[in-house]
Amino acid sequence: MTRYETDAADALSEFLAAVPDGQRVRVRVLLTDRRVGGRGLRALYALFGADGRIPAALPEEVVEVYLSDDEAEPLHDCEACGLPVPVHAGRRCGHEAAVEREYFPVCPCCGGRTGRHAYWSRRGPY
Ligand SMILES: [Zn+2]
Repeated sequence: MTRYETDAADALSEFLAAVPDGQRVRVRVLLTDRRVGGRGLRALYALFGADGRIPAALPEEVVEVYLSDDEAEPLHDCEACGLPVPVHAGRRCGHEAAVEREYFPVCPCCGGRTGRHAYWSRRGPY
């Protein structure tokens, strides 16, 4: 394996380690086989790689949303801990998807409020 492939495999195992045991196999399939959907999980995985805001253990109910809703995307996040939470995304207006259903108006990890860019906007401009 090249260096890049090794890093990618490490990142995938690290991500899968945060997924509850009973869901890990299904999550791995969705992340590695592009024919079976899993867009939301791949977006979550990309966020994980981008800024490492995925906790050591993802709440089971959060993962379950991605497994049961093909249109779920991690568009909202917790203003307190930064956990990205899935929403049901509908038609896109421009480049922003319309949010049709909020699964977690309150963060399942810490009880903080969630919303679009809630974590970053609370911290103000850079
Ligand atoms: Zn939180």
